[in-house]
Amino acid sequence: MPSDLNSSARLRLWGVRGSIPVPGPSTLRYGGNTTCVEFRADGEIIVLDAGSGIRALGNELEREFKSKPIHVTMLSTHAHWDHIQGLPFFLPGYSEKNSLRLLGYKGVGGSFGAILSRQMAVPFFPVRLRDLPCDLSIQELTDMEFRIGPVRVRSRFVNHPGNCVGYRLDAGSGSVAFVPDNEPYEFRKLHAEACARATPEQARKFAVTERAKLVEFLEGADILFLDAQYTDEEYQQHIGWGHGSLTTSVDLAVDAKVKQLLLFHHDPNHDDDTVDEMVERAREIARDRRSKLKVDAAREGAEFLLNGR
Ligand SMILES: [Zn+2]
Ligand SMILES: [Zn+2]
Repeated sequence: MPSDLNSSARLRLWGVRGSIPVPGPSTLRYGGNTTCVEFRADGEIIVLDAGSGIRALGNELEREFKSKPIHVTMLSTHAHWDHIQGLPFFLPGYSEKNSLRLLGYKGVGGSFGAILSRQMAVPFFPVRLRDLPCDLSIQELTDMEFRIGPVRVRSRFVNHPGNCVGYRLDAGSGSVAFVPDNEPYEFRKLHAEACARATPEQARKFAVTERAKLVEFLEGADILFLDAQYTDEEYQQHIGWGHGSLTTSVDLAVDAKVKQLLLFHHDPNHDDDTVDEMVERAREIARDRRSKLKVDAAREGAEFLLNGR
């Protein structure tokens, strides 16, 4: 068991960026690494996605645990590169004392394990995933509700190209919802109309139903990480790309009555000042809705403690 087992849950943000890492002077405050969030609760170390941020997490875990074994469970939302590209550089994977459980759903064009293995196959990387010396287990999920130790995990498929899920983790001291990539369902009708698979009325009903289910899934979460990659203006040029806009993301969080929204999956072209402006705008939108929702942008290095209700 991890050495810091206690009653509060802790979140640490190791990567908050979407699409591609963007280190440099313009992203110093919010960070340039791609998606990776650490959640420690009830004796478990759960890692949400393995973007480039997981490299620094791995180094920190080795520093903390030293010669003691590290047991990590990684929950994968999907295999887009910005969510798996850090895995080959996760130091605990290279030590026999550690165990690494990788959990995720079947992807497009292959099993979860096959897709994860591909990015480490020759000629892309010198060490194959299966050759990592740690105690490695790769498990393709089919259930949408299960437990990691005492932590209750629920998942649901979201509106994003390919198979992509969001997760909700309920621990003794609080709940976290993690939806790093998601496009508002309101616009699903555009794709459905375009490919003539549904009438406009069927598409509208589908969008309304799916959004209601997503609201229910997120209901009352203490912290919600939600895709808010685009400003409202930018979104108009990116409909169908699979990502959220500021207003639709705040609206979803308000409707789901979450306590705190962390704008997530920052666009690689957004510098720190742009993210600041988006936070201000998001707070205005929440105020206009007379909501008590707390809004911030996810920031690499930030920590949150959940101390029960
Ligand atoms: Zn992404
Ligand atoms: Zn994606």
